[in-house]
This record gives sequence, C-alpha cells and structure tokens, in this order.
Amino acid sequence: MQTNFTLAQLADADVAESEKILRACVHCGFCTATCPTYLLLGDELDSPRGRIYLIKDMLEGDKPASATVAKHIDRCLSCLACMTTCPSGVHYMHLVDHARRHIAETFRRPWRDWALRRLLAITLPRPWLFRLSLRAAGLARPLAHLLPWRLRNMIDLAPRVLPPASPTEDSLGLRRQVFPAEGTRRLRVALLAGCAQPVLKPGINEATIRLLTRHGVEVVLAKGSGCCGSLTHHLGEAGPALAAARANIAAWWREIEGEGLDAIIANASGCGTTLKDYGFMLREQPEWAEKAARVAGLARDVTEVLAELGLRPTTLSSPLSSTIAVAYHSACSMQHGQKLNALPRRLLAEAGFEVREVPEGHLCCGSAGTYNILQPHLASQLRNRKLANIARTGAAVVATGNIGCIQQLEAGLDVPILHTVELLDWATGGPQPGALRAPPFFPSPPGSSPPSPPERGERVGVRGAAR
Ligand code: SF4
Ligand code: SF4
Repeated sequence: MQTNFTLAQLADADVAESEKILRACVHCGFCTATCPTYLLLGDELDSPRGRIYLIKDMLEGDKPASATVAKHIDRCLSCLACMTTCPSGVHYMHLVDHARRHIAETFRRPWRDWALRRLLAITLPRPWLFRLSLRAAGLARPLAHLLPWRLRNMIDLAPRVLPPASPTEDSLGLRRQVFPAEGTRRLRVALLAGCAQPVLKPGINEATIRLLTRHGVEVVLAKGSGCCGSLTHHLGEAGPALAAARANIAAWWREIEGEGLDAIIANASGCGTTLKDYGFMLREQPEWAEKAARVAGLARDVTEVLAELGLRPTTLSSPLSSTIAVAYHSACSMQHGQKLNALPRRLLAEAGFEVREVPEGHLCCGSAGTYNILQPHLASQLRNRKLANIARTGAAVVATGNIGCIQQLEAGLDVPILHTVELLDWATGGPQPGALRAPPFFPSPPGSSPPSPPERGERVGVRGAAR
C-alpha cells in the first residue's frame, strides 16, 4: 500500500513503524474472511482492511481520532486472527496498538465511556482492588436491575463465589517466594503471578507450580512483579502499561543477575503475548530496551516449557473407564498471538485425554481482555457462538490456556472448563481439580454430598519459601 508520510512524521518511531506495516498491506482482503467483527457486522470498516485504511488516513493526516475511527477500532477484539490469515505478514497488532494510543491521546470520549475505562484501568491490574470490587459487585447484585446497563453487565460477569486468597497470591508484590524443584533441578524459572487470574482462579498458579516443581523446575515469584500491563495496553494507556512492564523487568532482572533464569513463564496466553512484546514496547527507552529484549526472549507460555521437559503422566485418579474427552478451546492470544496451536493439544493427548476440536476454532469467544465489558453485545454474540460450537464436540471437559476465556465461557457451559495446566497437573500425579469432583468424574454414593474443596493453605501442595 502506498503511503504519504512526511519526513517530519517519520521521525516519530511509532509512525515510522506503522508506515512500514501499512506498506506491507496489499489490500487483498483475505483477512476479512476470518475477522469475527466483519463476520458479525458485514461492514468493511469493521474488517482488518477497513480498519487499516482508517488508521492510515488518521496517521497520515496527523488528525485527532474521530468518533468513527474510535468506534471501529473499539470494536476490534485484537484477536489477531487477521495476522494468522494475512499472506503479506502485516503486523496488525502493532498497528492497532498505535491507533489505540492515538485515540486515547486525541479523542474525547463521552464521560460514561471514559469513566468506565478509567475504572477498569485502575481496578483490574491491582489484585487487592479487584478483589474488593468483586466483593462490592456481590453486594450490589440484588440491586443490579436499578443500575445502568453497563454496570449491570459488569455485575453479571463477576463470579458469584470468590475463592479464598491463595498462599501464592501477593496482592502488593511485596514478597519473593521460591518453590524448590523436586529431585534434581533441571530449570529455574520465574512465573508471572498476574493480576486478575490469581483472584479469580488461584488454583491455576498453584497447579502450574506443582506441575513444574514435580518435573524438576524451581519456580520463583519475584518480588515486585505483577500485572503484565496488557489490560491498560489494550485500552491505549501507554503510561501505565509501560510502567507495569518496567516493574516486571526490574523484578526479573534481579533474578537474572542473581541465581539466573532459564525462562519467564506466563500461564495466561494474553499476558504471554504481551511479555513476548516487551522488547518492542520499550525499544525507544535506552535504559530499558536491552533488558526488555532479554526478558521478552526468555518469555514462554507454560506449555512451551512443559513440552521441553517431557511430562510423566500417571494413571488418572478417576473411576471413569473410558478416556476423558476434552474440547480444547485455543485462545486467540495462544493461537494467533503466540502461534501455539498444536502444542497444548499434543500435551493433553500425551497425558491421556482424548482431545476434540471445537468447530470454528479460529474465532474469538468475545472475551478479549476488557472487550466483554466494553462491547457486551458483540461479545455475547461471539460467546453464544463459541458455546454452541463447544457443545457440538460432546466433550466432558473444556480446556484452555487463558483466564479471560474461562471467565467468558464458564457460566454458559454445561461441563467444567479448566486451564490446561490443571488437567496436566492431575494427569501427572496432582490432585483432581475441584471442578471435576462431581459426577461423572467421581460418582457420589446416593445421599452423600460431593467432596468439599481443599482448605486454604493445603492447596498449593508444594513447599514454598519467602526469601
Ligand atoms: S490479508 Fe493482509 S495484505 Fe491482505 S488486506 Fe488483509 S492485512 Fe492487507
Ligand atoms: S484483530 Fe480480530 S477483530 Fe480486529 S481486525 Fe483483526 S481479526 Fe478483526
């Protein structure tokens, strides 16, 4: 695609990068075929190609974002299906990230929209505040019908029961915890503790730690690490996103310079995609660029490290005589963002599960960070479509590698949805996930109640030390 930027414009590193991306697009339109919003709305401006034209016009003209641009970019899920489809290698992710920043800086949103975005940007990355807001949502639930529809939708999305805080949770990032490897240490890794995930599903980090330590990996939760920054990054808020990235890099750098790290692990694929992009995000900050590139180079999804280790499956502690059928839902950030498609499926199959494909697996479930809060109508259409496709598999369990997808789909499913590591942990000697402690996985004798979840403090099942 021909572009018309001036030399002065190209002196800006972000504009120069976007110009390169724009020039790679040959406007063939192949990407429209896999774009979920184009599929739902049928409007060229809600397709990748249409959005690319809108961004080009805005950046070339050095214009503030218009309401039209904001509307169509806001509707983009950042699912990156278009990047998988594009034959020209257009890096849509960096282009739309730039557009979102430009919109945040130049577009005056209606105050309700602005306030909601601020609320999300402040609350979600801080586990203690997020926990508090979920409790408040629980208290407000009986009065939800009196509230504006957006707040009502947020309350609907909040879980009805909040699990107790995990021993691994460190809401303020003040503690350093080390979980030693069982047997000979093969690797030493840092685990990104995350922000919303440990509050919503603390069992995911616990299963990850058990699984890794059981396979000879020492796991560190570094003091000062926390949210990866992707939530604010996707809201266009460059300042808080880069601050989160720098805090993590500083925390992990101390470990790299201390006992060293073989990998930095994310078990939420959305976060992993952002960690792997730290080098790009901080490329213009001389003090951080080199460290950011090193950290990005060490970043791995947990399944990548598990595949390197080679898992040792045991016999599942389930009375089911047949193999358990698992529908694997590949999160967009996993399959399109990190290009990890076959690996998680392979690990599940090798661990003894029967992996079933979800029809239209390339389509987003509508979660997409805060998309299900900001664009609830489109998000719920995608969710319903995904739920129907999952139901077609007839599987007994759904597995995925991203907390956002779990939250988006859980309430609409008739079967449990788990993180892949929870199943792999179980299959290699860990405890049976709480969600599977009911029929048909463990038929209860008539008249008895299902087993209760483990008590707080028992859940990790490995000994960690604050050092
Ligand atoms: S498929 Fe790629 S090259 Fe073709 S229009 Fe879409 S982004 Fe441009
Ligand atoms: S990121 Fe997803 S929603 Fe956005 S343009 Fe690409 S395919 Fe469409």
